[in-house]
Amino acid sequence: MNRSRTAQWKDLGFLAAFITAYELGMALCLVALALIPFSANWKSLPTWQGLLLSFAIQLLVYLLVTAAVWAAYGLLRLHLNIGGLLDPRPLKPRQIPQEMLRGISTCVIYAVYTFICLRLSSGLWPTSWLAGAAQLAVFLALYDFWFYWSHCALHTRAFAAFHGTHHRSVRVTPWSVHSLHPVEALINQLPFLIFVLAWPTGFGMIVLFQVVIMFMTASGHSNYDPFAQSSGLPRAKAFWRFHQRHHQLGRGNFGFMGLHWDLVFGTAQGRKAE
Ligand SMILES: [Zn+2]
Ligand SMILES: [Zn+2]
Repeated sequence: MNRSRTAQWKDLGFLAAFITAYELGMALCLVALALIPFSANWKSLPTWQGLLLSFAIQLLVYLLVTAAVWAAYGLLRLHLNIGGLLDPRPLKPRQIPQEMLRGISTCVIYAVYTFICLRLSSGLWPTSWLAGAAQLAVFLALYDFWFYWSHCALHTRAFAAFHGTHHRSVRVTPWSVHSLHPVEALINQLPFLIFVLAWPTGFGMIVLFQVVIMFMTASGHSNYDPFAQSSGLPRAKAFWRFHQRHHQLGRGNFGFMGLHWDLVFGTAQGRKAE
């Protein structure tokens, strides 16, 4: 389909504005990391203190990153008139407080993993930026692959009752991220344990992984379409809506960082943006 040059420039403008805002949002989320006064002594803390510290870190990352994503996209949509809602239907009564309550229980389970990772950790940070970047890239690839297959499994009859808790959120919000049954929370965090066992990792990197995963997940549950005013960019639109579509349909689009595994294994749904 031929589109005018003006429309194409407008699309590019939206894309550039959004990428800038996305990077800014990520930088704001890293503030959560900077607020944590890491100490090499944490590894030898008594068990209850280590658990309490791990819970405090989980809660800080959950509340700050989710609130930052919520505020950033609200600012873009309501005050700068960039983008719009993917699903305009009203939220269920008391949806956000219920999501937050389940979020706190998820933080408790995640804290147990964080504590085990702390005990298994090797120092605080890698020896170089390059080593840190390599660890982050490999972890994200592992998490992305694990998420696809575990999410497929969660949609089988055996796990449907557990995953149903997350699917109570049909019109998602960034607070839907941690709205999980404890069994699903246990499954979700396994890549952290696998990674730390396979590759000696500093505790600071483990928390950095949490921040990055939280930012991506909260973005995917933001119900926000940055390209709502654009008639083009079908791939960008499809990328931004694939997880919201999963919540609407209750099937397909099981991926974490995109539709790549869904396309490989034939589970992609509704790729064409309407
Ligand atoms: Zn699902
Ligand atoms: Zn979801």
